[in-house]
Amino acid sequence: MNIILLGPPGAGKGTQAQRLVERHGMRQLSTGDMLRAAVKAGTPVGLQAKAVMERGELVSDDIVSALIGEELDGMGAGVGAIFDGYPRTEAQAASLDGILAARGRSLDHVIELAVDEDALVERITGRYTCATCGKGYHDKFEQPKLPGVCDKCNGTEFKRRPDDNEETVRTRMAEYRAKTAPILPGYEARGIVARVNGMAEMDHVTAAIERIVAK
Ligand code: ADP
Ligand code: ADP
Ligand code: ZN
Repeated sequence: MNIILLGPPGAGKGTQAQRLVERHGMRQLSTGDMLRAAVKAGTPVGLQAKAVMERGELVSDDIVSALIGEELDGMGAGVGAIFDGYPRTEAQAASLDGILAARGRSLDHVIELAVDEDALVERITGRYTCATCGKGYHDKFEQPKLPGVCDKCNGTEFKRRPDDNEETVRTRMAEYRAKTAPILPGYEARGIVARVNGMAEMDHVTAAIERIVAK
């Protein structure tokens, strides 16, 4: 199974992708995570992407599509893929079709997480992750059960993204509206889009997604 989680920054793509990984042994392919790893490692891709990401603009289509292709090549053919944060432009959507076809894969579902824009700034500015295992948290909406200790790995170090500030979020939302939302009609025409209310409680969003992937 190959699915896309589509939605603006803060919609809950990463949160729901982590849950699908745990429940179904699928693999999360997050271009944001791949790019952050490249920035951290100081690779040529990272050097090119750093400033663009800090501004909240989109990194070039060629770079992210190459990252996705490499990641898929490292996966077993039977392992399902969850695309999180990719594709984000019409050119990337077209590339993805070719990338999947070349590997004998095809898209099963595009799951759109629909959210009110006003809620996104609060979600993004309160977001943090475990520095050890990457599990996502939120200051208000998902705190560790024991304060300061990761539920999943007992890690005690957490981190926040430099681009998770209000100003950058506004740019990222504008990029989503201008460049990413327009890829939806193409998928709708193929009859593979399912819309989920991303404003619901996290567990309810998960249940709605489970119903879609069970089909
Ligand atoms: P995305 O990957 O789409 O940018 P995340 O999954 O990182 O979004 O979610 C952004 C923040 O909002 C995280 O801190 C997460 O804990 C929180 N969050 C995710 N889904 C919900 C939800 N349904 N209700 C409230 N907060 C949520
Ligand atoms: P979020 O989960 O909040 O939507 P991501 O982690 O997916 O954010 O992306 C962070 C940044 O990485 C984006 O603002 C953009 O600069 C870059 N990026 C990630 N994925 C892509 C992509 N598919 N195309 C272009 N740029 C991307
Ligand atoms: Zn952890």
